[in-house]
Amino acid sequence: MTDTDQTGSTSPLAGLGRMIAVSSGKGGVGKSTLTANLALALAGQGLRVGVVDADLYGPSIPGMLGIPGDQPPAMSPAKKVIPAQAHGVKVISMAMLSGDDKPAILRGPMVTKYLQMFITQVDWGTLDVLLLDLPPGTGDIQLTLAQAFPLSGALVVSTPQDVSLKIVRRGLRMLEQVNVPILGVVENMSGFTCPSCGEVTHIFHQGGGQKIADSLNVPFLGSIPLDPAVVDGGDAGRPLILDAPDSPAAQAYRAVAAAIGGKEQDGPGLAVPFDWQVAQGSGQPAGAAAIEGGDPERPVALEYDTSGLHIRWQDGGEQVIDPRDLRLACQCAACRDEMSGQRLLDPASVALDIQPTRIWSVGNYAIGVAFSDGHSSGIYTFPALRAMKQVEAEDV
Ligand code: ADP
Repeated sequence: MTDTDQTGSTSPLAGLGRMIAVSSGKGGVGKSTLTANLALALAGQGLRVGVVDADLYGPSIPGMLGIPGDQPPAMSPAKKVIPAQAHGVKVISMAMLSGDDKPAILRGPMVTKYLQMFITQVDWGTLDVLLLDLPPGTGDIQLTLAQAFPLSGALVVSTPQDVSLKIVRRGLRMLEQVNVPILGVVENMSGFTCPSCGEVTHIFHQGGGQKIADSLNVPFLGSIPLDPAVVDGGDAGRPLILDAPDSPAAQAYRAVAAAIGGKEQDGPGLAVPFDWQVAQGSGQPAGAAAIEGGDPERPVALEYDTSGLHIRWQDGGEQVIDPRDLRLACQCAACRDEMSGQRLLDPASVALDIQPTRIWSVGNYAIGVAFSDGHSSGIYTFPALRAMKQVEAEDV
């Protein structure tokens, strides 16, 4: 068995960084255009960026990034698909596999299979961010996709019309059902940029995206004006952000990237990414010191000993979590019903002496944990960990 097999079999997702879905309730709102521009804006921050064009029915990312659609991708010696590269970003798309513009008519299970392949059978190398351009809608397919991967978060794109905003509400509910953190709402085509004077005129109601974000208690990440140059850039395979970096639309794309970018975190934290084989010793991920007034949901150090998983938080809080409690708290699809939230895992089936064998970072939001019972699909977000009961003093 090769090293790649060894690490790959426990977590094929290690090294892919934060996985962020870009979703929309309906088509044509500019979701793919946002994904393409956002990818370049994130790459411009120095991040290593990959894009999965998961819009299997209308793959448009290769066209928008100027990748020829008719070239089948090369295979690596390890029999992985080598992603296309454009403007410093790695890309995989259904269009590259089917080799034509026909929408792929796939049933649900096939969609999951393809998407899993895009993530696990593609030679991504190490990434900081992997963007997933989801197909439009809030139905089963989107739900399946959102469940299939440990998403660090999702963006929802809308246009300012009321009908579109109502659909956003539905999209946000769907993501909440499957416990995907919502990074925020982006409003697109929210005003017209005059091609000659650059002035922005609001054609539709203003502020709808902000209002809906406020009412649902999620961040509003900004408005991207309607700009004919956005269409020209997409058609030419050169996203607007490359050729008109100072335009209001390019600035808005960069603002969204800044809001979700992985490098801007306040204060000290764990050095990510890390992939810690617990048997190799306690406290492998490099830790930092707590600070006065720090973030209560940002860990600065992780350690493991027989009393449990010790987490030190940026605000100085310390917590010891029992390994069995951690296993029982798993929120993955096999352990918990996404719809009802009911636990599917039978506590009687979990050994009393269960131990974590490997702990790795999932973006800046969560850790993944593999256990001695072989289970490794659970992702534990920092807020969920902080909310967990800690081992009582007398148990320690
Ligand atoms: P979706 O992925 O939501 O179906 P696309 O990204 O394919 O939408 O965009 C649909 C059309 O709208 C494309 O022709 C695109 O160039 C255009 N478009 C997207 N955003 C803007 C914008 N801010 N200004 C002008 N046209 C835009």
